[in-house]
Amino acid sequence: MSEASGNKAASLRQGLLLVLSGPAGAGKSTVLRTAVEGDPAIRFSVSCTTRPAREDEVDGIDYHFLSDDEFSAKLGAGEFLEHASVHKWRYGTLRASVIDLIEEGFDVIMDIDIQGAEQIRACSDSLISRAHVDVFMMPADTAELERRLRARGSEDEETVRLRMKAALAELEHWRHYTYRILSSSREADYASFANILRAERLRVTRFI
Ligand code: 5GP
Repeated sequence: MSEASGNKAASLRQGLLLVLSGPAGAGKSTVLRTAVEGDPAIRFSVSCTTRPAREDEVDGIDYHFLSDDEFSAKLGAGEFLEHASVHKWRYGTLRASVIDLIEEGFDVIMDIDIQGAEQIRACSDSLISRAHVDVFMMPADTAELERRLRARGSEDEETVRLRMKAALAELEHWRHYTYRILSSSREADYASFANILRAERLRVTRFI
């Protein structure tokens, strides 16, 4: 096979929709950042949220920060592929942004909670179900989770307590996912994630 036809075959791969869930502090965002920065074929799905931006967050990059009314309008117009309330805020993924990227052959990573992951799993859209892979990241022990939550330093005691409670409930859901990564070092976590990605990209069903 010539190199040209080999490249053509490669470019005919449909993108993945990689759902990454797990409690805050389990190491998701580090894995995600490493993946997006290191691989031009990967795109991060920028969610909408009604949560106020944290100090280091940029509108349109980390999230689309919306008012409650703006979120409701998008929900009413059917623009969300999935949506959920997490803690006291609303979060949702815009259908159009994800579908366009997958069709263009990008692998899209979504950092979404267990409710959203459940909706994507149940989605009847054939493009989504073909592209779908889900991964649950969890800490090896809950003391480590609490330590990481506190180490973020961006939240008050009440918020940390709320997040810890939510995290413990969320941990019960790992069996619903295809893959589980037990978090250890950044390098080991990313290596596990990269291995999942590599294998999923090679599936015969990915090629169109
Ligand atoms: P944070 O406010 O710390 O950025 O995120 C809180 C939780 O909301 C995390 O578990 C994150 O995975 C989840 N989340 C972020 N974006 C979305 C989304 O678009 N949909 C859903 N269902 N959950 C989301």
